[in-house]
Amino acid sequence: MSSPPDFEVLVVGAGPVGCWVAAELCAAGVQVLVVEARENRAAWSRGFVVHPRTLEIFDSRGAAAPMLAASRRLPTWHFAMGSSRLDFAVLPTSFPFILLQPQAQTEEILEEHLNRCGGAVLRGRRVLDVRQEPDRVVARILHDGAEQEVSARFVVGCDGAHSTVRTTAGIGFSGTPDTMVSPAALAELADPPPPEQYMQGTEQGLLFLIPLPDGRFVISTIDHAVMTELKKPWTAQMVRDSLLRISGTDYGLGEVERVSTLGNAALQADRYRDGRVLLAGDAAHVHFPMGGQGMNLGIQDAHNLAWRLIAAVRAERDGDGHGAEAADALLDGYEAERRPAGERVLEDVHAQMGLVSATGADGAALRARFEALLAEHPAVNLQYARRLSGIAVRYPTTTAPATTADGADGVVVEDVRLGARVPDLLLERDGAPPVQLYELLREIGPGRFVRLTIGDHRSGNEEEGTAALTATGVRGPDWAVRDGWDHRGSVLIRPDGHVAEARTW
Ligand SMILES: Cc1cc2nc3c(=O)[nH]c(=O)nc-3n(C[C@H](O)[C@H](O)[C@H](O)COP(=O)(O)OP(=O)(O)OC[C@H]3O[C@@H](n4cnc5c(N)ncnc54)[C@H](O)[C@@H]3O)c2cc1C
Repeated sequence: MSSPPDFEVLVVGAGPVGCWVAAELCAAGVQVLVVEARENRAAWSRGFVVHPRTLEIFDSRGAAAPMLAASRRLPTWHFAMGSSRLDFAVLPTSFPFILLQPQAQTEEILEEHLNRCGGAVLRGRRVLDVRQEPDRVVARILHDGAEQEVSARFVVGCDGAHSTVRTTAGIGFSGTPDTMVSPAALAELADPPPPEQYMQGTEQGLLFLIPLPDGRFVISTIDHAVMTELKKPWTAQMVRDSLLRISGTDYGLGEVERVSTLGNAALQADRYRDGRVLLAGDAAHVHFPMGGQGMNLGIQDAHNLAWRLIAAVRAERDGDGHGAEAADALLDGYEAERRPAGERVLEDVHAQMGLVSATGADGAALRARFEALLAEHPAVNLQYARRLSGIAVRYPTTTAPATTADGADGVVVEDVRLGARVPDLLLERDGAPPVQLYELLREIGPGRFVRLTIGDHRSGNEEEGTAALTATGVRGPDWAVRDGWDHRGSVLIRPDGHVAEARTW
């Protein structure tokens, strides 16, 4: 018999996505190795936006508090840089806002969370390739000029857009190439516009400014005059010219500390799973950073994947053939759920890029029409806010839709729907003070299902590995129990917070 693999899971890349998946696995007692090519965490931030669903995920594990304490909240956000804002304040979540937090800070908090969960990042280790054997994946790793082989039952490629794990596993990356480019510059503005003009659209293009806590700005434009010059990397002078073209002023642009050139390629891995190799985050999808969604999408991948991997590792550890078969199907479920979720984000980004890159008077009129739709139709506004925030994600489930008191499919109470994520409900209990659902999720940690029985207790058989909760009533973040409300039901909540089964009686 061959010796067991060195580790249960190898996580390649310690960006936000790698740190999150590793933390979930470590907290559930999985033996994890996290390797990162860089010697140090990047000091500069690519992104800034943390969306509501991501905050819910962080909160359900106790990682949101340090972010909420330090960062700015915006109750509205944009679609295609338009001035008609999406109203996040009405979203049914405990976090009805976006959090403006530099990604470097998010990464620092997530790495600290990983450390608290018992994991650590080994830096200066670059994975050169991976190969699969029947019971393991073997990775060649370069460290201090020497090559070393490490084996694990599974490998998760969280190694970004140019993923070595993806390419050496032979997984394609398909989609649409760059057709336009845009700058992301970091600089001081001596004479910035008022905040309501941080996003501006004219017939020449669009301007987008993000103010940083230290007074500097991230400056981006969609400049119709030069956006299709794909071969020309953006420079500080081009940023100044672009401001003048679009806004008629450079707002006192100071020294540009950094300028990068962003393309609008939208690519997705052909498969998120190949045997024992799994992909998450930018390794699985890339798109133009419109709406600040890439990292959020990746964290949601990681959260969906982690509990499946925990089950697969436990089944292999136990040598349980039936369990291994079930876990194999669970791992397939990762791609079945997350690839379509990624596709939807890529489509939304395509739509936004279509709006912002439409030129001249025709483009300006198209944007004006779309803005009027968002301003005048709250239902349309809400739909886009739900999609961008991540809370609209609802997975198709294999469980038959339950019959409910009000006849709606799989809806137990408002905002508790089959396949959807459960918000942080307040649970009222007999003979005990009310408790928040996420407080209980924090207590039980990753990898466990929760059976929530509401209204009365129909004692069923105890379910292995499932925590049982009984509540006499529930309140959502934005709604109260109605007078005389007497729904009774049972909800099986997956370890990633989505409803696996919903019944009322
Ligand atoms: C200008 C800009 C603004 C953005 N704004 C936002 C925003 O506001 N909100 C948002 O959600 N997203 C935003 N994004 C996208 C976001 O930055 C990415 O989606 C996110 O960083 C992806 O995280 P990740 O962990 O998957 O990959 P990465 O952050 O790329 O991390 C991958 C890690 O893997 C390591 N690595 C690579 N190869 C190897 C190897 N062979 N061996 C070992 N380690 C390796 C890398 O060093 C890196 O640390 C923005 C992107 C850009 C460019």
